[in-house]
Amino acid sequence: MTEPQRVDVCVVGAGPVGGTLACLLASAGLSVAVIDRAPLPPMEHPDFDGRAYAVAAGSRLVLERAGLWDRLPFPPGPIRDIRVSDGKVGRPASRLFLHFDSRDAKPDPQLNAGTAGAEPAFGWMVEARSLRMAINARMAELPGITVFAPAVAHVTRDADAAHIRIEGGPDITAALVIAAEGRNSALRDEAGIRVTRLPYGQTGIVFAVAHTVPHHGVALEHFLPGGPFAQLPMAGTDGAPDLSAIVWTERDAVAKTLLAMDDTQFCREVARRLGPHLGEIRIMGKRWSYPLGALHAERYVDTRMALVGDAAHGVHPIAGQGLNLGFQDVGALGSLLADAHAAGADLGAPALLSRYQAKRRPAVLLMLAATDTLDRLFSTNNPVMRLARDIGIAGVHRMPRLKRLFMRRAMGA
Ligand SMILES: Cc1cc2nc3c(=O)[nH]c(=O)nc-3n(C[C@H](O)[C@H](O)[C@H](O)COP(=O)(O)OP(=O)(O)OC[C@H]3O[C@@H](n4cnc5c(N)ncnc54)[C@H](O)[C@@H]3O)c2cc1C
Repeated sequence: MTEPQRVDVCVVGAGPVGGTLACLLASAGLSVAVIDRAPLPPMEHPDFDGRAYAVAAGSRLVLERAGLWDRLPFPPGPIRDIRVSDGKVGRPASRLFLHFDSRDAKPDPQLNAGTAGAEPAFGWMVEARSLRMAINARMAELPGITVFAPAVAHVTRDADAAHIRIEGGPDITAALVIAAEGRNSALRDEAGIRVTRLPYGQTGIVFAVAHTVPHHGVALEHFLPGGPFAQLPMAGTDGAPDLSAIVWTERDAVAKTLLAMDDTQFCREVARRLGPHLGEIRIMGKRWSYPLGALHAERYVDTRMALVGDAAHGVHPIAGQGLNLGFQDVGALGSLLADAHAAGADLGAPALLSRYQAKRRPAVLLMLAATDTLDRLFSTNNPVMRLARDIGIAGVHRMPRLKRLFMRRAMGA
């Protein structure tokens, strides 16, 4: 019989959001149990997840507070400029385009804290694998964290505490349990928290391309009728000094055909959409695909429980904001819990949980609506919609204050 353990917080799900929250809380002196149903080392394998995240400047601060930014094993690639254009496959992009230069955004002392001396950037491209490796290494070195993975947990909650029974492991009592198990959160469903889901009928195809002309830190968002096609600047490697990540959204049926193509055919289709600005391109490694849909939980909290990351909300990757929203949850909940811990207050108190929900829900709903509208507005060939968005693009171009506002949003201000 194993000894029962008492911890401040139990995090279920050691993904990018749950893992970061656990590291941030333990860095602030809290004791944390982390449970994942999957073993953690295989998640570091290059074949586990092909995504690279656009991490906004505001999210970088969260990763720094959690002690993760400096532990990323592969250098993040800065995004210095963003170019947004509207187009058709195989034709030059519309002459109307938006160019955002990070040097034009007003410096934000809060966002720039800890990045002094660094050139301004909208964000940084971080490989999913790199983040996993940093999280696993940091969790292993923080004495306040105990990891159970792979493990199956059964959670019950009452007004006084959350009780976690780990199959074949100890019983744990925590002041608060965090549901961080992603879109199919079992804790959320067991709590009876309803979820609104919005399928897009689109698939996100993700892969990397090596190219002969440098990207100079410029990200491209090219709006095509099937969905957005994004090229995101990565830090190069020895074998591929000029490297970009591609996130290509297509309708499900078209994506299926594309994924079945051989490399030569597929590369030709990529080049038709990307245009010639990167010179010759070569597909690097595997192609990955993800079904796309939005999701929103009616509540982010319940008795002695809080939802974070994709367990609470999922958005279209059109603006690369899904994980950034999760990092903002981590920043908000992490600060409330660290302050309560320092004051000796109850970490699962209903008032604390309500403050967390009040801080996060409006911002998430705004981003959900914005990404959904963007996808609907741009993923169509309807001539009226095309005219409307070209007028919109031209309008933003002529309004420097509005342009600056967009830039600050993209940076996570
Ligand atoms: C194509 C694509 C591109 C994207 N690009 C970007 C981008 O550029 N920028 C950005 O900000 N976001 C991006 N996103 C969104 C981002 O991938 C997600 O928001 C992010 O992965 C959510 O992290 P999470 O930790 O909440 O959940 P997950 O990544 O789903 O992690 C959940 C963890 O919980 C564990 N788990 C699951 N069930 C259980 C259980 N019952 N018990 C215990 N553990 C469990 C899993 O093993 C896993 O480790 C993109 C998404 C897609 C599909």
